[in-house]
Amino acid sequence: MIIKEAKFIISNTDIKLCPTDGKPEYAFIGRSNVGKSSLINMLVEKKDMAKTSGRPGKTQLINHFLINNEWYLVDLPGYGYAKASKSSRNQWEKFISQFLTRRETLINTFVLIDSRLEPQKIDIEFMSWCAEEQLPFSIVFTKIDKLSSSALQKNLAAYKKEMLKYWEALPPVFTTSSESHFGREKILNYIDQINLD
Ligand code: GDP
Repeated sequence: MIIKEAKFIISNTDIKLCPTDGKPEYAFIGRSNVGKSSLINMLVEKKDMAKTSGRPGKTQLINHFLINNEWYLVDLPGYGYAKASKSSRNQWEKFISQFLTRRETLINTFVLIDSRLEPQKIDIEFMSWCAEEQLPFSIVFTKIDKLSSSALQKNLAAYKKEMLKYWEALPPVFTTSSESHFGREKILNYIDQINLD
């Protein structure tokens, strides 16, 4: 897919205010600092379309970007910010679960995982919840330039092993680097392919 146009549409905290024109949505979510903003900027080739988080956990908004006038890239608030208060966590859960379970136009959610880390409870819990709710999702391992290919393979294998305890089959898995742009084409082609189907 060639990105001809990427424009910001709306940021909000209310799913009722999300676009209603029926265009397909692809959401991106992950722990604060996982590299979500960098990945989004890399995908659309804009330096700061998604705001990289100076203060992780501060962006508690659903951000819609319209791509090529065809589909929405949805930047969802990051989870698992240690310093977030309980009430803001509850608010996050309510609003994100509403978005993920109620949007008929939501085609796929990309769950971002930091490839440098061992399986994290919060990520496994979130993906288990997606699976229980039968939400279509894919996994994106970020920041792969930061580790050797053997360390990457080891971490991916550990994640896969952990996930296969819960599910019979794995969702699609992507590996990316926002530094080298590795993985960009694969993600965009995947979106293209689903849109064509
Ligand atoms: P967000 O909180 O998930 O939006 O994360 P950011 O995109 O703000 O990234 C968090 C930090 O990780 C920043 O310092 C980024 O420069 C860095 N980062 C993000 N993606 C990559 C990557 O692919 N490679 C490297 N080396 N650093 C990255």
